[in-house]
Amino acid sequence: MNHAADTPDAPIFDPDTFRLTEQQAALMQQARQLAGEKFAPRAARHDRDASFPTENYRDLHAAGLLAICIPQSHGGLGADYQTYALVAAEIARHCGATALTWNMHVCSTLWAGKIADDLEMDDAARTEHERRRAIHFRRIAADGAIYAQPFSEANASAVGQIPFGTAARPVEGGWLVTGRKIFASLSGHADYYGLLATEIAPEGNASRRNTLYLAVPANAPGVRVTGEWDPLGMRGTVSRNLEFSDVFVEHDAAIMPRGVYFQAASRWPHMFLTLSPTYLGLAQAAYDFTVRYLRGEMPGAPPGKRRSSAVKQLAVAEMRIKLEQAKTLWFQSVSEARVDPTPEQRLRAYAAQFSTMETANDLARLAIRTCGGHSMFRTLPLERIYRDSRCGSLMAPWTAEICLERIGRGALYQEGETDD
Ligand SMILES: Cc1cc2nc3c(=O)[nH]c(=O)nc-3n(C[C@H](O)[C@H](O)[C@H](O)COP(=O)(O)OP(=O)(O)OC[C@H]3O[C@@H](n4cnc5c(N)ncnc54)[C@H](O)[C@@H]3O)c2cc1C
Repeated sequence: MNHAADTPDAPIFDPDTFRLTEQQAALMQQARQLAGEKFAPRAARHDRDASFPTENYRDLHAAGLLAICIPQSHGGLGADYQTYALVAAEIARHCGATALTWNMHVCSTLWAGKIADDLEMDDAARTEHERRRAIHFRRIAADGAIYAQPFSEANASAVGQIPFGTAARPVEGGWLVTGRKIFASLSGHADYYGLLATEIAPEGNASRRNTLYLAVPANAPGVRVTGEWDPLGMRGTVSRNLEFSDVFVEHDAAIMPRGVYFQAASRWPHMFLTLSPTYLGLAQAAYDFTVRYLRGEMPGAPPGKRRSSAVKQLAVAEMRIKLEQAKTLWFQSVSEARVDPTPEQRLRAYAAQFSTMETANDLARLAIRTCGGHSMFRTLPLERIYRDSRCGSLMAPWTAEICLERIGRGALYQEGETDD
């Protein structure tokens, strides 16, 4: 069997080798086909125009994939964390920007679903949450509603160092939300903005424990999309700013009960690893491109094979080794996602995030160096993969530097240990 020839169209994770379930194999196959046939041909246009791929979202809804992590009892596909991650990586191979925004959307359902199920709530909160999440799930599964996750602000709140500056002031029937979010993927294109805000307690002290996770209707009075969007990469995410000024949000807008986001952030850390599948898919795409290009099989590339030089063969070998390393670590970590992971699993999650984000851009860099000048023309996807992959290590809360910091500290200090 010629493995090199098989690589570009094969699943990133072979179902037999990685012992995947039938559901996982089927969903990966469905995603690969949808993204390859529909999203890939549209990707260059959305990248050039920095426009949102609305038609991809219609296709995702028609395929049931907007509801991938919604429980079957609520009309979804009932996929778990690992399944979502495997499917997202396949989508990213063909359109990184769609995979990245789809992550924001799917996480809204994963956090309200499986992750909330694993966390502590009293009976009243659990009953209320069950009723409320049914509203969100129905909107998505039945009506195709799109949810965004605008958390980032121009401060250290998204990385968990200070409370969110966006404030939710309790009023009769709900809250009044005021604040500003930056880099809000899907802005102007989501139906609901699932934002994190600090509930202003009667004593007035802002605390991270009082973080609320609220679905603000995009058309609510007081919501504005502002700022330009003309970045280096991930242009199809349309991540502009969102401004909220005294926006009334009813109690049923809560995607998680009060206090549960704070609990999730500390007890379910893999919730922040969900941006990595996009970049694993981009890493695979850079490798696939290189193999195809050097074999003379890349549509739109100059004719002829370019594989006979030992230098190119060595470069492909180096890329393959880096890809295998990132894939294996990523797969292991994604398989370990759970409530209260061990310290070792937690550190491995940071390592997986760091490796995936850095490897994606490294492989894109090596792909251009190895394939050469003709490979980076805008008529081919490689230069877009290169630009999109550059964004991975910037993704809060687990940016590359923060992962390094936490791995170093976590390896040298036990929980609560100091040098005093
Ligand atoms: C394409 C794209 C889409 C995005 N989509 C979303 C979205 O949908 N929702 C959302 O909430 N956010 C989103 N973000 C925002 C992203 O998660 C970051 O919040 C954002 O990139 C921060 O930009 P900044 O200019 O404030 O950089 P900074 O956060 O200041 O980062 C600059 C550098 O400082 C480092 N750094 C920052 N804080 C610390 C720290 N505490 N300790 C150590 N090092 C630190 C970083 O690692 C980085 O190297 C998106 C960003 C991009 C590029």
